[in-house]
Amino acid sequence: MKREATTAAPREVPATGITPHASLAGLSKGTLEKLAKLNIASKFDLVLHLPLRYDDETQLYPIMDAPAARDVLIEATVVACDIKYRPRRQLVCNLEDGSGNVTLRFFSFYGSQVKHFVPGARVRAFGEIRQGFFGAEMVHPRYRIVQPGLPVAEALTPVYPTTAGLGQDTLRKLIERALASEKLDDTLPDTLIAHYHLPTFRDAVYFLHNPLPDVARDDLQSREHPAWRRMKFDELLAQQLSMRVHQQRRRGVGAPALRPRGALVSRFLKALPFELTGAQQRAVAQIREDLSKPHPMQRLLQGDVGSGKTVVAAIAALQCVENNFQVALMAPTEILAEQHYRKFSSWLTVLGIAVVWLSGSTKKSLKEQILAQIASGETAVLVGTHALFEDDVVFHNLGFAIIDEQHRFGVRQRLALRLKGTHSATGKPAANAQPHQLMMSATPIPRTLAMSYYADLDVSVIDELPPGRTPVTTKLVSDTRREEVIARVREACAAGSQAYWVCPLVEEIESDGSPPDKQRLDARQSRVGRPGRAGMEALQLKAALETHETLSAAFPELKVGLAHGRLKSEEKSAVMGAFQRGEVQLLVATTVIEVGVDVPNAALMVIESAERMGLSQLHQLRGRVGRGAAHSACILLYRMPLSPMARERLKIIFENTDGFEVARHDLRMRGPGELLGARQSGVPMLRFADLTSDVNLLDAARDAAAVLLSENQVAARAHLGRWLGGRGDFLKV
Ligand code: ADP
Ligand code: MG
Repeated sequence: MKREATTAAPREVPATGITPHASLAGLSKGTLEKLAKLNIASKFDLVLHLPLRYDDETQLYPIMDAPAARDVLIEATVVACDIKYRPRRQLVCNLEDGSGNVTLRFFSFYGSQVKHFVPGARVRAFGEIRQGFFGAEMVHPRYRIVQPGLPVAEALTPVYPTTAGLGQDTLRKLIERALASEKLDDTLPDTLIAHYHLPTFRDAVYFLHNPLPDVARDDLQSREHPAWRRMKFDELLAQQLSMRVHQQRRRGVGAPALRPRGALVSRFLKALPFELTGAQQRAVAQIREDLSKPHPMQRLLQGDVGSGKTVVAAIAALQCVENNFQVALMAPTEILAEQHYRKFSSWLTVLGIAVVWLSGSTKKSLKEQILAQIASGETAVLVGTHALFEDDVVFHNLGFAIIDEQHRFGVRQRLALRLKGTHSATGKPAANAQPHQLMMSATPIPRTLAMSYYADLDVSVIDELPPGRTPVTTKLVSDTRREEVIARVREACAAGSQAYWVCPLVEEIESDGSPPDKQRLDARQSRVGRPGRAGMEALQLKAALETHETLSAAFPELKVGLAHGRLKSEEKSAVMGAFQRGEVQLLVATTVIEVGVDVPNAALMVIESAERMGLSQLHQLRGRVGRGAAHSACILLYRMPLSPMARERLKIIFENTDGFEVARHDLRMRGPGELLGARQSGVPMLRFADLTSDVNLLDAARDAAAVLLSENQVAARAHLGRWLGGRGDFLKV
C-alpha cells in the first residue's frame, strides 16, 4: 500500500480497526513531498525516523590536542580569509585558537560565505582535522559563527537519513516537534517490559534522538544499546502480532472439509515404484490433517531440490479428488508446469482421473473447450502456468490449489487463485469460501525469515533426500580450461549418462559481479510469461544458440538439444521430452531449466559464467543433477577477474551442498528482500531489526505476541495501532 503524503486524502482504516496516526498538518507541499520520499507521512513516522549516526559536538577541543581520524568540534578566531584560484577555486580560511592554527577549505561555497569569516570572528567548526602540506586543515567542515562562551551541546547530534533539499536542521526540528506532540505512552504492559529488561518506549525514542555523550558509542552504532533493542523488539512484536491476527482471521474463513477417504490414495501408493521417505510421510500426514478441516489450509512445503515434493502434492491432490472437489496445480514456467502435467497424468490417469493442461500458449479453440470442462467440473485436476488465475478460468468447485516454487509468484497472483474458490460456476459465491493452499518451495528459507515473513503459514519441511542419492561433486574450473570440460562431457555421455550445459543471462552482470535486482526481477517475470523483456531474453538466447552450435560441432556423435524461454511450447516440450527419454544426451539450456526439471539420468551439469549467478540460482541449477544413483558432478565455469562478491559466492557454493546453508549465506549477502522476492510481492521489510543478528529478539517477540494476544488484547491492539497505523498489515497475503 502506498502511503499518502497529502493530509486531505482519507486513509484507509485497516481491518484491525486501528485508527491512523496524526497527519502532518501545516507543512508546505514541498516539505511533505520530500518527507514522503523518506516514507514519512505522519508525525509518528517522524518519531520513528531514527538517526543513522551521531556527531559528538559536546566537547570543544584545542586544535593541537584534537584526536585524529574522527570529527571534532573546535572553536577558533578568524585570522584571514581568501578565495584562492590555484590549483582550483576555493575558499580558504585561517583560524587560530591559542593552541595552534587550522585552515578551513571549501571547494563549493557561496560568495556570501566569505563575509562570515571577517578577521576576529569566532567560528565553531565540526569536522576531521588532517595534517596537510600547509599544516592542520579541515575540508568542508560544518561551521557557525558564535559569540564567545556559547555552551556546547549536551546530547550527541543526531544525523538522519534524508533526501535532497531537506536539511538536517529542518528534519531535526520537525522530529523534535513530533516528539513533543505525539503520545509516546507505552503500548506494552510493565510486566513485559520488565521481563525483557527493556526501557520504556518514550525513553527509548528520546534517547535515540538525543543520546547523552557518556553512552557506549559502539552499542549505539551497532544497535545493541537497550534503546535500539526496544525499537527492534517493538517492530518484531508488531510483525508477529500482525501475522497471528491474520492466522486467526483465517480460522474464520470456510473451506471444504476434504476428509481422507483413502481409496484413491492407497491405490496410488501401491502403484508407486518407491516408498515415501519418513520426511515425506510426515508432510503427507500434516497436509491430510489440514485438508480435512473446514478452514483453508495455508501450508508451505519446504524441501531442498530433489527432496520429492511433487509426490507429496499428488497425494494431497488425490485426497481432494476423492471428495469430488477440483485441484489446480500452478508452476511458474511452462517447462516446469508441463513436467508436472506429465507426471500427474502418468500417475492419475491410471486411477481414472482426468488431468488437463492449460498455459498461455494453449490455442484458443482448445482453450475454450478446456475452460468449459473446468467450469462443468468434468476436469478434476488442472495443471498449468499463471494462465490458471486469469479471469476466464472459472472453476466448478475448486477445493485445493497447489503452487510450486511459490516465491516466484507475486502475492497478488496467489491471491487471485485463492479467490477462484469463492465463486462456483453459477457465479454465486460458494458456500465454502476459499480453497486450501499448498505452496511448495525449494528455496529453503532460513528459520528467522520463515518465522518473520511466513509466520502466518504452517510449514512442513522435507529434510531428507530419497535414498540412493550420491552427493553432487562441485568443481570450479576456469574458462580457459574449456577443452577439458568438453572432454569430460564426452566421457559422461559415452558412458550412457546425460548432461546439461547452462548458459547464463548475459545481462546479469554488475560492476561487482552480482546480479542487479531489477534485472533479476524482470527476468523472473519474463520467465513466468510476462512480455516486455525481449531484449534481455534475446541476448541470453544468442549465447545459447552460439553455444548450441559450438557444442553440436564438438560432439558430432551426440544428439545435442536446445531449450530456452523463446521456444514455442510444442518445441519446448519436444526437446524436454527427448531429453527425458534419453534421446537427447546433451541439453544446452538457458536458466529456464533452473526450476524443477527432473531427469534422473542426467549426472553432469556445466554452468557457464557461474560467477554472474546468484547463490540460490546456482543451488537450484545444481539440484538438477544428482537425482539418480550415478555419481554426479556440477562444473562451474568462471572467467577471471572475479569480483570479491563473485569469489565469495563461488566459494560458498563450492563448500556447501545443503540448501539451508546456502540460503543462510544468501540472506547474509543479499538481505531478505531478494530471497523472498519481496519487492515483487509487496511485503514490507523490517526497518530496524536485522534477521541475521536479532534472532534472540525475534524469539522473544514471538513469545510475547502469543502472551499478549491471549492475555492482553488491549495492549496487542494498541501496539499494532502504533506500529501499523494506517498501513494495514505487515503481510498482505
Ligand atoms: P523436488 O522436491 O525438487 O520437486 P521431485 O518431486 O521432482 O523433487 O522429486 C525428485 C525425484 O525423486 C523424482 O524423480 C521423484 O520421482 C523421486 N522421488 C521422490 N520421492 C522419492 C522416494 N521416496 N524414493 C525415491 N525416489 C523418490
Ligand atoms: Mg519440484
